[in-house]
Amino acid sequence: MRVLIVEDEKEIADGVAGILNGEGYNTDAVYDGEDGLDYILYGFYDIILLDVMLPGLNGFDILKKIRDKGISTPVIMLTAKSQVEDKIQGLNLGADDYLTKPFDAGELLARIRARIRNTADLSENVLSAYDISIDTSTYQLKKGDKAIKLSKTEYQMLECLMMNKGQILPKNTIINKVWGFDESGDYNNLEVYVSFLRKKLKFVGASACIVTQKGVGYSLNAGV
Ligand code: CA
Repeated sequence: MRVLIVEDEKEIADGVAGILNGEGYNTDAVYDGEDGLDYILYGFYDIILLDVMLPGLNGFDILKKIRDKGISTPVIMLTAKSQVEDKIQGLNLGADDYLTKPFDAGELLARIRARIRNTADLSENVLSAYDISIDTSTYQLKKGDKAIKLSKTEYQMLECLMMNKGQILPKNTIINKVWGFDESGDYNNLEVYVSFLRKKLKFVGASACIVTQKGVGYSLNAGV
């Protein structure tokens, strides 16, 4: 799961990133509005935490621009205490939720899980698709009573496919989600990990399978 934090108070941004990294999320933190917009447009995030008062573009400007472009990634606005107006304006512009600063780690995690639950079949720590499930805290892939542990990279890749089951994911999208911008993701790595995952799906006896969409990318299908 990839989370973008757009927040100019560096301490808050880095603190939130630390909490989320500890929970197994991948995070990027940026500290001004223009970077925020760039990252959202090219980063393929599952959730965006967006501050309102930002240098460059403010949070409302960013939200309006991305919704106008048809980007429907869930956005949780970070608003200062007492700014009720901010909440209303944010929700009107297409924010999915808001958090009032200061917030604690538990509240942050609960809100994020609630947003993700709306887009995926996620109960407690278990994400399911077709006949397989993965435990988001132990990285176990399961079908029935057969289970196998996934590496972190395998887990992130399968999670991405499961959250978009039945849809074709371009290779670039998967690489950006799993490796981010500046790390070592490339097409060869991607293919290697897909083959690892296929072996593990086979090991647990899953019907769900990763289908190669020639020249485009991959999709997770129900299989037979
Ligand atoms: Ca701010």
